[in-house]
Amino acid sequence: MQEILNAILNDASSEEFANLKLPDSFRAAYVRRDEADMFEGVESWDKDPRKSLHVGDVDLPELAPDEVFVAQMASSINFNTVWSSIFEPLPTFGFLDRLARESEWGERHALDKHIIGSDGAGVVLRVGSAVRNWKPGDKVTIHCNHVDSQDPSGHNDSMHATNQRIWGFETNFGGLADITLVKANQLMPKPSHLSWEESAVNALCASTSYRMLVGQNAASMKQGDVVLIWGATGGLGGYATQLVLNGGGIPVGVVSSPDKADLLHSLGCDAVIDRKAEDYKFWSDPHTQDESEWRRFGKKIRSVVGEDPNIVFEHPGRQTMGASVFAAARGGSIVTCAATSGYMIEYDNRHLWMKLKRIVSSHFANYQEAWEMNRLIDLGKIQPILSAVYPLEQAGEASFQVHRNLHEGKLGVLCMAPSEGLGISDPDKREAIGEDKITRFRRHADSLKK
Ligand code: NAP
Repeated sequence: MQEILNAILNDASSEEFANLKLPDSFRAAYVRRDEADMFEGVESWDKDPRKSLHVGDVDLPELAPDEVFVAQMASSINFNTVWSSIFEPLPTFGFLDRLARESEWGERHALDKHIIGSDGAGVVLRVGSAVRNWKPGDKVTIHCNHVDSQDPSGHNDSMHATNQRIWGFETNFGGLADITLVKANQLMPKPSHLSWEESAVNALCASTSYRMLVGQNAASMKQGDVVLIWGATGGLGGYATQLVLNGGGIPVGVVSSPDKADLLHSLGCDAVIDRKAEDYKFWSDPHTQDESEWRRFGKKIRSVVGEDPNIVFEHPGRQTMGASVFAAARGGSIVTCAATSGYMIEYDNRHLWMKLKRIVSSHFANYQEAWEMNRLIDLGKIQPILSAVYPLEQAGEASFQVHRNLHEGKLGVLCMAPSEGLGISDPDKREAIGEDKITRFRRHADSLKK
């Protein structure tokens, strides 16, 4: 691994990368099949990723013709890292076993250790015989849409492919590792002005937000749209807020502390609601929602922005969906990609149909959407929202922080990168975009520690 790292640090040629010997095994963060029931009887909140996420050596798999090995310099924690490591809503080993039944190449994935992680930035080490557009030595970021290009169902929009999967969640050999295995059509060029860890945190959350708001497949935001964003400084929300501002919309950001409200204001989001300070109780008991609280929330939105939201950016799920459906403007859209607080959703259908609202589902992003999002980051129009960095050995601790909502933005993980700040190949471009903008979330998080 040291030779690989030296080649990366010395910017070796493609030929030199191609001639590097690959190790038989590599370091990775994984959950174990024999521990999948370790949290039985434990409340979700108390399931601790620090107990279930291990770091150790795993064998290097064989490379399929349409795949590449990437030396991972950095990765990130996503909420799916949390789901995998608390084995909710179900252990991920079932996904791996299903993939194994599909093909001989798929069989490689059904192991007793599941390497998780769905983001990454690094350098291509080897390409399979059918890979045309990438070569060893290319600096890349990785998006997590894993599709079989021979499946006809994916050729309109690959998110509709019957065998669409999320890399490092529904496949093995994910991003929290020193080497990862991905399909060539998961690669995108690394933004030249960002460090490895700044490049590694974007693809999953930013592309998901892009499809939800900007692409043609979900809410298709237009200039002037008011967009209510739950968790507006979280992983999805931090990108959603920037996309709304960049696209001429008007964000209304919901957060849960004055510090997060300050961060939102500094991003340029003027309309902010602190849900903790307002103490909304959308559910008066576990089975009953309180419409008067929805109304209080709707009034608050009108008071901060003057009108109802054309789009509601939904992901908390059960706790908020009733309020989201109520608060959306007549003819508006509630675009949902998740249900962190529970997936059995209840809302009052009268508010939906009588006001001609629509609920739009969205899930990650196809290659084109992820590529367009990566381009916006490369152009410096959207900034990474990296707020803290952990070594791979502490992937469990980082996941715990996300599980307990103790973080802002995104948490980066250093894999092969020996320290932070490496990998910036165009410092002039970085200066032109602005260090302050690029490091806003990091500086804010650091200032809170003081
Ligand atoms: P995150 O970084 O934890 O941010 C989510 C934010 O939502 C939190 O910071 C919190 O902000 C807010 N929140 C959490 N619980 C809430 C509640 N009960 N009511 C209101 N607000 C709440 O997570 P993320 O990366 O943004 O992901 C959010 C969800 O989307 C997760 O369930 C994840 O699995 C899912 N997701 C799905 C896809 C997809 O492709 N389908 C992609 C990415 C993520 P405040 O405390 O400041 O309000």
